[in-house]
Amino acid sequence: MKAINTMTLTFDSLEANESFARSATAGFFTQLDPTVEELCDIRTAVSEAVTNAIVHGYRREKGKVKLTARIYPGRKISVTVRDSGCGIADIEKAMEPLYTTDPEGERSGLGFSVMQSFMDSVKVSSAPGKGTAVTMQRTLSPLPDDGGVIVDFSCRGAEI
Ligand code: ATP
Ligand code: MG
Repeated sequence: MKAINTMTLTFDSLEANESFARSATAGFFTQLDPTVEELCDIRTAVSEAVTNAIVHGYRREKGKVKLTARIYPGRKISVTVRDSGCGIADIEKAMEPLYTTDPEGERSGLGFSVMQSFMDSVKVSSAPGKGTAVTMQRTLSPLPDDGGVIVDFSCRGAEI
């Protein structure tokens, strides 16, 4: 399906950019009038993917993270977070709940589970030494019906 609107951000792999990335992504999707809960879910999922790119992909070394947000017909959205870092050897294992390679034990291994529970689908493509791309999709709920009342102010001035 062809996207009807896209937005791409490229930023340095610094933790300082994580909140920027999730806010910019949420800002892009506000044009669809999502619910507060939907926006919150998207922000959280984006945060997890961007943190993974910075912490695991680049192991806190300098690199570029590329985020692409897309809007498709039918209120379907997607976010792809891509890094050119170390890559993932076993994607299936990496996506298992509680699996982490964090040597310091600071992480809980739940990032992918969070992404999966907040979005409709999460797809990972990765190759060791080449990098990782995480694409998350979700279909937003339909807009509430406003009762069908159309108020047209466009010709008011013409009567005066
Ligand atoms: P948490 O997200 O709970 O803080 P975590 O980051 O270890 O912990 P996940 O986000 O589920 O947990 O990721 C699981 C594992 O997948 C990571 O520990 C890491 O080994 C690997 N991984 C995830 N994203 C990337 C990435 N972009 N590049 C390389 N490895 C990754
Ligand atoms: Mg994580």
